[in-house]
Amino acid sequence: MTVDSVKTLCPYCGVGCGLEVLPAPQAENAVNGQGQAGNSWKVRGDRAHPSSQGMVCVKGATVAEALNKDRLLYPMIRESLDEEFRRASWDQALELITSRIQTVRSTQGADGVCMYGSGQLQTEDYYIAQKLLKGCLGTNNFDSNSRLCMSSAVAGYVQSLGSDGPPCCYEDLDLTDCAFLIGANAAECHPILHNRLQKHHKKNRTVKMVVVDPRRTKTAEDADLHLAIHPGTDIDLLNGIAHLLLRWNCVDTDFIANHTVGFSDFAAVTQHYSPAVVSERCGISVGDLETAARWWADSNRVLSLWSMGVNQSSEGTAKVRAIINLHLITGQIGKPGAGPFSLTGQPNAMGGRETGGLCNLLPGYRHVQFPDHRAELEQFWGLPAGRISPDWGRTAWDIITGLETDDVGLLWIVATNPAVSLPDLERVKTALKRSPFTIHQDAYYPTETAQFAHVLLPAAQWGEKTGTMTNSERMVTLCQAFCSPPGEARPDWEIIADVGCRLGFADQFPFTNAAEVYAEYVQLTHGRVCEMTGLSHDRLRQEGPLQWPIPKANGKELPPQIHIPDSLLQTAATAKRLYTDHQFPTADGRAHFSAYHSRGLAEPPDAAYPFVLTTGRLYGHWHTQTRTGRIEKIRQMHPHPFLEIHPRDAARIGVEDQGLVEVRSRRGMARFPAKITAAIAPGTVFVPIHWGELWADQAEANAMTHNQSCPDSKQPELKACAVQLAPVATESTQADHALFAKTLEVASVSSAL
Ligand code: SF4
Repeated sequence: MTVDSVKTLCPYCGVGCGLEVLPAPQAENAVNGQGQAGNSWKVRGDRAHPSSQGMVCVKGATVAEALNKDRLLYPMIRESLDEEFRRASWDQALELITSRIQTVRSTQGADGVCMYGSGQLQTEDYYIAQKLLKGCLGTNNFDSNSRLCMSSAVAGYVQSLGSDGPPCCYEDLDLTDCAFLIGANAAECHPILHNRLQKHHKKNRTVKMVVVDPRRTKTAEDADLHLAIHPGTDIDLLNGIAHLLLRWNCVDTDFIANHTVGFSDFAAVTQHYSPAVVSERCGISVGDLETAARWWADSNRVLSLWSMGVNQSSEGTAKVRAIINLHLITGQIGKPGAGPFSLTGQPNAMGGRETGGLCNLLPGYRHVQFPDHRAELEQFWGLPAGRISPDWGRTAWDIITGLETDDVGLLWIVATNPAVSLPDLERVKTALKRSPFTIHQDAYYPTETAQFAHVLLPAAQWGEKTGTMTNSERMVTLCQAFCSPPGEARPDWEIIADVGCRLGFADQFPFTNAAEVYAEYVQLTHGRVCEMTGLSHDRLRQEGPLQWPIPKANGKELPPQIHIPDSLLQTAATAKRLYTDHQFPTADGRAHFSAYHSRGLAEPPDAAYPFVLTTGRLYGHWHTQTRTGRIEKIRQMHPHPFLEIHPRDAARIGVEDQGLVEVRSRRGMARFPAKITAAIAPGTVFVPIHWGELWADQAEANAMTHNQSCPDSKQPELKACAVQLAPVATESTQADHALFAKTLEVASVSSAL
């Protein structure tokens, strides 16, 4: 396939920037050495995309450079992990998978089968996976790496507002009087969104920007006020701000009376958070706390933005709800420039949530525990009543414990790399080793997870398949294919549907293309907060990206089995922002305050492990480097991992800048060159998450992290664990850094396939 120019979406972060892709000139192809002419691509920002308006960061700009590197080209199989992979036909591989699924169903039941997916999948891929696992097979054992990323935001929105769905839009970045960023290093993790906010901030000097983060990140450097709180004290801070707003009587009493419940319990909790108490617990001055509260009180439009620093916590849902509380007491929701706004980590984590891509969800923002939701799906899918389980399936971590107890008989991993990204990695790897049958479906080889697989399935990736993705502001973009997949790679949805047909569910998988899959899926959003019955591939192709809710314009005939509450129909009729009428999709139509006291970190530092390790992303890299590690410009930008340590702590343990430090937790260890900087608070150290064992020796952040998770969202506390530090004696710094130069060796491995 060759084309002049195609519009698509950046496949990295949840900002969801529009891209325009053009074939590079043939001469440049030859220079680039990326294969035959016409096999190299130029990427630029799509000026017509409403979310990004032509802007693009280094990841989006370079994404095409990884299209032709280290691709898995054919299905590969082996009997055991000791053997070499051998090439198989698709028929052989899928028959093997089908027969293993049948065996597990008959010996262990459907709950012996698990699929673990990712926010890299397109909406169509997600939907087909839900239909196969939760519908046809009758197990809710589909979880995705959104469990590690956004599940606390989901639970917080549902509990406080009645439904998932960020209420805000990017235009609010241009309209706010006060941006309150907490646990979000947007300058590195959501750079184009940050640029937009900064433009507004710089142009309007009365606009305030507050950043709450234990590190002085690049985002914090741009703030008017940086609150470098101790890790795990977010709820203390948020309740402390509420305490002051209430003390100063800077609250919206009409909004509270008419549109909320639970205020008095919340107000009672905040009485325990005086400025003196909060100052002491958070490690900030009373003056800074009062400044943050004063700016919130005095601003007509307050926009809070949060990401993994809030979500990845053993009290992540409570933190999200504490943020929403502040919006509820001040009526800062459902209006321009204001509201609680979660910044999605992955490009289609939102689409995953919409299609039910977590083990407690069903398509259309439905929940497995509600009988009417299950019945709607069973009828729509033409499956017997009672087929869908009322229980949560296995979360990401429950899959690991299920492998440990032999309750998981088959694990199908799609478009993600859990051998780097899950917490407590040594335990994870040990569990993966004992898996009776693991399928790894991915675009690339090698990956760290591939070594634990019995079957490798080559997946088409960005640019090679057409489908949709939804970004953080609910904007749906058609990601159009502009080239053919290499070798025998196929779209993820097509592979999963093929297995569904082989398992005897051909009636449920009649699709011949992704547009048909999407057309079926959107019917299930009718009357839901995420209404998108007005969308189709054709419409998105013709009109460009569109934001939900977007009902069918001329009264689509609905499937008769789907019940539509009137309140949700009203919500679905709004545009750009949710809840502009202050009616919430809860049973009583009101938003719900929460009343939480802070519990702090699940694993606080102590005498044996006196430092808090926190983790995060860097500007250029993405997750476990499966794609960005294969892009030269990004490798040069971030050549090796490091550990940020405060000068006082560095002196205390006796390490010099660039000297090697061993970091050890109760679970595992890693080694990093020290980066001595006052940007990190004393007592806390930071390492990036991106380096798995393919890219560096002993530099995995998750070797140290633990699996303790939020009781509501089941999201693990990847952001903090207790560690001890020790300098490593070496002959020279340069020799140490050779440890981190594995990239070029790895790049040649896949040619063996
Ligand atoms: Fe891609 Fe995110 Fe960068 Fe936009 S900001 S180009 S979506 S990585």
